[in-house]
Amino acid sequence: MATPDVGIRPTLLERVRRFVEMESPSGDVARATALAEVVTAELAAAGAETRLVDAPGFGRHVQATVPGANPSAAPILILGHLDTVWPVGTLADRPFRIVDGRAEGPGIFDMKAGLAVAIEALAELHHAGRRPARPVRVLVTCDEEVGSTTSRPLIEQLARGAAATLVLEPSLPGGAAKTARKGVGVYRLRFTGRAAHAGIDPAKGVSAVLEMAHQILALHALAAPDRGTTVSVGPVRGGTVSNVIPAEAEAEVDVRFATLDEGQRVDAAIRSLRPALPGAGVAVVEGGINRPPLERTAAVAALYRTARDLASDIGFDLPEGSTGGGSDGCFTAALGIPTLDGLGPQGGGAHAVDEHILVADLPRRVALVRRLLEAL
Ligand SMILES: [Zn+2]
Repeated sequence: MATPDVGIRPTLLERVRRFVEMESPSGDVARATALAEVVTAELAAAGAETRLVDAPGFGRHVQATVPGANPSAAPILILGHLDTVWPVGTLADRPFRIVDGRAEGPGIFDMKAGLAVAIEALAELHHAGRRPARPVRVLVTCDEEVGSTTSRPLIEQLARGAAATLVLEPSLPGGAAKTARKGVGVYRLRFTGRAAHAGIDPAKGVSAVLEMAHQILALHALAAPDRGTTVSVGPVRGGTVSNVIPAEAEAEVDVRFATLDEGQRVDAAIRSLRPALPGAGVAVVEGGINRPPLERTAAVAALYRTARDLASDIGFDLPEGSTGGGSDGCFTAALGIPTLDGLGPQGGGAHAVDEHILVADLPRRVALVRRLLEAL
């Protein structure tokens, strides 16, 4: 496939701006494809062999490989995504701009600046005539913000046999890397009852909404906040008009868990919910564990310490932390591949109107990724 000519090597900030100014909401095939082609061209200019992978309904994923100094060593996987949560037109309201050392724009923090950092690290190595210690695989997906349905098999395929995964998702406040992420489960439940006139024949009815109310309490009781397990029910809906006892109701459920054991405990409990009211029904219509947790294993901690020490050599602190949000790093971690997430630049406002990054943090993030690729 032809790729657009991006001309001479752009500066890092120009690249960030270029990516932000190409809006790419998940599911916009044309725009995601256009950005994938630009990302491909920039990776190729950084010495990578590239290919585009069809993602039906979403656009293209970008896959790239860079040879390592030791070609037979287990590779490093760099993960990122080019889709954002922002609809087309957001850029017109909130254009790319730099104010007081902060660069702003839709998708800049999550995670177009991180993407630019990864490419710049590879470009620096390439233009200095150096090679990463190990072969590097790069995967930039276009459906991360909507659950990675088309990219998950590719992520897992590229992660297998890798020595480590580096994820350029946004850092935590203070620039901390993410060494633990909660897993995510999402469910849609349907409750059934029997319709009857609420005034004339109330005894003949069975309220699906009342059944749902019982189950909402049961669902919330599955939470174990001391173990990091949370349950949130919503949105919910049920019934037709107020004078009819509702025959149907539906609820969505969001479950977060720090360990796979906990995720499986809640999953099993949701699947074995039994009706509280005679004549009512409960069923899981769809859903399950969507992303496993990224658990802070000894290998994850060791990878973090390597990055922290390199950051300290470069001259900055790299703290670590955990988050309740999932990422594609959860898939690689679940395969037992040491995964360090949140390596993107400092900033804030992911999925929020004050989304921004700190411009001064960009170069040292590039240095960190480059040093990691040389050291690991
Ligand atoms: Zn993201």
